[in-house]
Amino acid sequence: MSAGNIAERLYYDSPELGFTATVTDIRLDSHEKNEAGEKQQLWQVALDRTAFYPEGGGQPWDTGVLVAVSRSGATLEVPVERVEEDDAGEVWHFVRKPLVEGTEITGRVDAARRIDHAQQHSGQHLLSAVFLSELDAKTVSFHLGTETSSIDLVLREGAERLSEEELQRVEAAANRLIFEDRVLTPRWVPQHVAVAMYEHGDLRKLPEREGPMRIVEMQGVEFNACGGTHVASTGAIGGLMLRRVEKVRQGWRVEFVCGLRAVRAARRDFELLTGVAGSLSVGTGDVPGRVTALLEDAKAATKERRGLIEELACAEAVALVTGAIEGAVIRAVFVGKDMEFAKQVAARATGFGRTAVAGAINGSEGAIALARPAGSMVDCGKILREVLGAAGARGGGSAERAQGVCRAEQVEELVGKLVEAL
Ligand SMILES: [Zn+2]
Repeated sequence: MSAGNIAERLYYDSPELGFTATVTDIRLDSHEKNEAGEKQQLWQVALDRTAFYPEGGGQPWDTGVLVAVSRSGATLEVPVERVEEDDAGEVWHFVRKPLVEGTEITGRVDAARRIDHAQQHSGQHLLSAVFLSELDAKTVSFHLGTETSSIDLVLREGAERLSEEELQRVEAAANRLIFEDRVLTPRWVPQHVAVAMYEHGDLRKLPEREGPMRIVEMQGVEFNACGGTHVASTGAIGGLMLRRVEKVRQGWRVEFVCGLRAVRAARRDFELLTGVAGSLSVGTGDVPGRVTALLEDAKAATKERRGLIEELACAEAVALVTGAIEGAVIRAVFVGKDMEFAKQVAARATGFGRTAVAGAINGSEGAIALARPAGSMVDCGKILREVLGAAGARGGGSAERAQGVCRAEQVEELVGKLVEAL
């Protein structure tokens, strides 16, 4: 074990992603299993110096490769899948091939992933600073996701929500500072200096650990005690776009994207919108108006359809009553109609003082409605429950109106049985 031999963190002072180092320790991490449940050997390697950022401060770890050359000249390239710092401060690189202690390696950090993380992370510093200066809203947590990132804000006292105007103002102010290309400067200060800065209000938070502290200054914007990786100046954040805002338990969650992520998000939105516009055969700017008009049309059509069904049900009931023997129970089965139609026909028949059983068959589904006129002593709910229940179907209702569902092929038979039971 290489206690007291903690790796030099190259990422603190340099954006350089390639480096040379020596393996100082290796240990087997065997608890990884693949999708088939087979144990896969995963090794953890420690180096005397590293440019790989371990997970921390809401920022995910770097990935990349460690390259070793054997005595025979063969090159061994080992992907780094994950990087973690342990409680003792040692940085462990997770690999699937062992590298023995003393091996000299060349490390290469995946540039696209690092740059993306530095953009989102630096963008978070900037966004939190702007929310504080513009709206007196304090950031209480930060999450860097694979697609979007978010900060959780506690609003100033008395503020109940974030308005659209406020969000646009913050977004514009953040992008203005990106345009101004403010320099980010990390420097190490003794703990007492950091404490003095905190007490003076220059630092919002102090790390809990002891010893020298790394303070990152964003020129003219803020100081931040942070061990993460940053861009050299705000211009490299590239741009910042606010996305969804939602209420969460501890305050308000604001999603945002920076740099190429903002471009990708805008590209996705544009493709979605042009797809919808294409389906509607209108220009993208006309989509909202067209959708509103379609919704209104659909609403009017539903209302009209409901009226037509009522009229049709009424006509069916009149025809049934007219054609039936005086005093007999009205019965009918309608194909291609639903429960609502059966209920309407049965209910209309009661308007002529008749008890009625109406069935409906729609594909494989069957529905049955039973209704009796006011003054009748028949308990529709009870009879329907008994008859349908005996056939393994379900239903229920009041003494005056009852309905149930069954299989399509049961409808005719159950209607007959109900008529017999009445
Ligand atoms: Zn930072």
